[in-house]
Amino acid sequence: MPASPRSEIRTTTCYMCACRCGIRVHLRDGKVRYIDGNPEHPLNQGVICAKGASGIMKQYSPARLTQPLKRRAGAERGAGEFEAISWDEAFDLLARRLAKIRATDPKQFALFTGRDQMQALTGLFARQFGTPNYAAHGGFCSVNMAAGMIYTIGGSFWEFGGPDLERAKLFVMLGTAEDHHSNPLKIALAKFKRGGGRFVSVNPVRTGYSAIADEWVPIRPGTDGAFLLAVLHEVIALGLYDREFVARYTNGGHLVVCDEASPRDGLLARTPGAPESDTDWPPAQLWWDRHTNRALPTHAEGADPFLFGEFRLDDGSRVKPAFQLLADRVQAYTPEWAESITGIAAATIRRLAHEMGITARDQRIELPIAWTDCWGEEHPAVTGNPVAFHAMRGLAAHSNGFHTVRSLAILMSLLGTIDRPGGFRHRAPFPRAIPPAAKTPNSPDAIRPDTPLAGLALGWPAAPEHLFVDGDGRPVRIDKAFSWEHPLSVHGLMHNVITNAWRGDPYRLDTLLVFMANMAWNSTMNTVEVRRMLNDRAADGEYRIPFLVVCDAFQSEMTAFADLVLPDTTYLERHDVMSMLDRPISEFDGPVDAVRVPVVPPTGDCKPFQEVLIELASRLKLPAFTRADGSRKYRDYPEFIVNYETEPGSGIGFLAGWRGAGGEKSMRGEPNPRQWELYAANNCIYHHELPPSYQYMRNWNRGYMEWAQRARIRRYGDPVIIHLYSEVLQRFRMAAQGKRAGRQPPAALRERVATYFDPLPFHYAPLELQATDAARYPLAAITQRPMAMYHSWDSQNAWLRQIHAHNYLHVSPHTARAAGIGDGDWIWVESQWGKVRCMARFSEAVEPGTVWTWNAIGKAPGAWALAPDANESRQGFLLNHLISEELPQTDGARRSNSDPVTGQAGWYDVRVRIYPAAADEPKRSWPEFDAVGAAPGTGARP
Ligand code: SF4
Repeated sequence: MPASPRSEIRTTTCYMCACRCGIRVHLRDGKVRYIDGNPEHPLNQGVICAKGASGIMKQYSPARLTQPLKRRAGAERGAGEFEAISWDEAFDLLARRLAKIRATDPKQFALFTGRDQMQALTGLFARQFGTPNYAAHGGFCSVNMAAGMIYTIGGSFWEFGGPDLERAKLFVMLGTAEDHHSNPLKIALAKFKRGGGRFVSVNPVRTGYSAIADEWVPIRPGTDGAFLLAVLHEVIALGLYDREFVARYTNGGHLVVCDEASPRDGLLARTPGAPESDTDWPPAQLWWDRHTNRALPTHAEGADPFLFGEFRLDDGSRVKPAFQLLADRVQAYTPEWAESITGIAAATIRRLAHEMGITARDQRIELPIAWTDCWGEEHPAVTGNPVAFHAMRGLAAHSNGFHTVRSLAILMSLLGTIDRPGGFRHRAPFPRAIPPAAKTPNSPDAIRPDTPLAGLALGWPAAPEHLFVDGDGRPVRIDKAFSWEHPLSVHGLMHNVITNAWRGDPYRLDTLLVFMANMAWNSTMNTVEVRRMLNDRAADGEYRIPFLVVCDAFQSEMTAFADLVLPDTTYLERHDVMSMLDRPISEFDGPVDAVRVPVVPPTGDCKPFQEVLIELASRLKLPAFTRADGSRKYRDYPEFIVNYETEPGSGIGFLAGWRGAGGEKSMRGEPNPRQWELYAANNCIYHHELPPSYQYMRNWNRGYMEWAQRARIRRYGDPVIIHLYSEVLQRFRMAAQGKRAGRQPPAALRERVATYFDPLPFHYAPLELQATDAARYPLAAITQRPMAMYHSWDSQNAWLRQIHAHNYLHVSPHTARAAGIGDGDWIWVESQWGKVRCMARFSEAVEPGTVWTWNAIGKAPGAWALAPDANESRQGFLLNHLISEELPQTDGARRSNSDPVTGQAGWYDVRVRIYPAAADEPKRSWPEFDAVGAAPGTGARP
């Protein structure tokens, strides 16, 4: 008699998007039968979305890579011709090559990773190797959102913080596509709307979340900064800012030297003798006190600063409160001015500004929670102004996005909504110092053979001295991050790596290791050219980027270009951590981290990338992975996670829960050998709820700061004053103006730095638009992820393909008809960089000057184990073909098409025109590519 099927349920954490919901994987005879939400999981409480349930189709995808592959001798890159090799061969090959690079010039090795990877380990590996050339995809995605917010309020959206929809009355969402946040935001929005909250969405496109907004405010892409500055104008003009909050918790009352004759012009005034680099604590900066009518150190007992006015210090220098300068700045940014830029009627801007201001002022929340601020004042209650915002890539992915996001952070601050109920709430480990303390090295001397990098590959510059440049101001990193071209590029510039390495500017690479980043397709701009660069050879016949290693779980478009392919596991087959050292999933009420545990064994011969790194690090004898006698420290990744400490004996490791020998400690404690077991027994998640008095006002909350220091989340307990006025930016500007001793930008970049490093937010047209013939290319073109697909992985998912098997260009009927285009017609979309042929679809849900499409639905034929004539490659298309990673050359110099402050890719800045395809043209998308054959080991449904 056959044995009855053995059924089991195992819990782990979803990875079909970055929300990290708890899931239950239902197995029969060791095979996944279906996946549902884990009702015991605090984050999603059993809710699962279409993506999450479709994880089974990812697990059993025929596109799975199942064995290490080496490019067949004599085969061209891009042809996808491989031979299978063993892991031993793969490790030998790679370790030999990397050892040689490390012993000579470590920067010739670069490691770049895709979306939502565990950067704490990849970053550690790169640093230990000694290369500065490491980053994840943030520079391509949303670094403006992170940098603009963190340089202003010490935190940001996404896993750093978010809107408190439990208590908000008004919710304003800007530029957010539905891939982000997903389940948690959907759950929160449903409750918010049921509770009578009003939801306003400002977005060129009305899809996803915006579809359920009470009011959709269509806006032209790249103009959100103008909208926000006009709202700021109104809020200040009507006196609708929270004066008490601004005075005490921002630097609005801090005096700024406004005296061109002074060497300190534009810097914050300080008590005599205090150094310029001093931060906000102890209070060396000055207020002009309303009671005594003289300058006093900020937060002096009983003092209350003027926010407006002009004063003279004892040394004769003229000073003004930063708030006065902000008010002066937004004076000209009237709603009428913004209307002409944004396309939003001035009356609408006025109405919305008024609504935000009076909702914040008149519907104040008071919670009976006593707390003490950093200056020792006791507060009987926590209060809040219930206006919440959320924003993402729509604001960020423009070359003017940093100042747009600063404008938003300042608006949120003026309304008094930072880390208060009903407003924006931080998630641990935020708030951080402004800027956070981590720095890169500041000279090429940090790179030495056989030595770890002397500093971090990514950091937070606070002054020109922190730039990672050589003595002549030239970039040290391959992507030119932290150089004068992009000084605050805190997430690197992944989108320029291949172009820079191909050109040898600033130098050539030997080996590029790419982990789960589809840099030959949707994770790059100028895709056709970038694919050519990957395949291009120098005069000596050697590829310009000599060795390409791709680690992925699937046969993507990028795999075909690899010299060596390392097959990764799926998320159901491996251990993983969402760590406080990296990207945790904290809640507003305290730190949370989570793990994944394998629920099925690895498929074929695939291996988790984490294990690959541990193995390579051990073979290369990188110090953090090796004992004094040269033997390996960690058997495998789980052992590494349990035992690694940031410093010997620090008690701080990757996971905060169940630390200490018996699992009795949290946040800090010695390694616990049973830590994985305890996470697995607790739904794979650890939640450290803070006492209520530590849950709000954390920038200035003494109790929280002391706790955060004990938990080593913060180095110092000083308050994090909001930077309405950014002295950090002013330091760079002064250097560019020749008014600051020390490092100076190269002559060709002086004007650029002086212009864009403005200490107050301002609006300018995106750089690409400034160099585009807007009459020829009148339409903005943008691309976003659909609700059903988070990653380029998902368009090969058999279930999700039934939702999106190809994409259209969505066009307003009015715009389409004016161009002679009918609904469903084949059309050409052309930018100054290239053109694509695709199908048009009429949509009333897009503002008339914008066209848009779903991202990464279009695929190259044969990739992802799709049939060569699959809809994805015959009818799907990629907007990236129309977007350049570099700007048109105007002054003879090549410049990245990126934000001049942060290096954020300006991939929402492209301008296009549309026209009908000729009747006799093939009804197929264009450009077309040769079909790639199936890689060895793919094609099977295990
Ligand atoms: S929201 Fe994201 S993490 Fe949650 S179930 Fe859906 S795909 Fe998975």
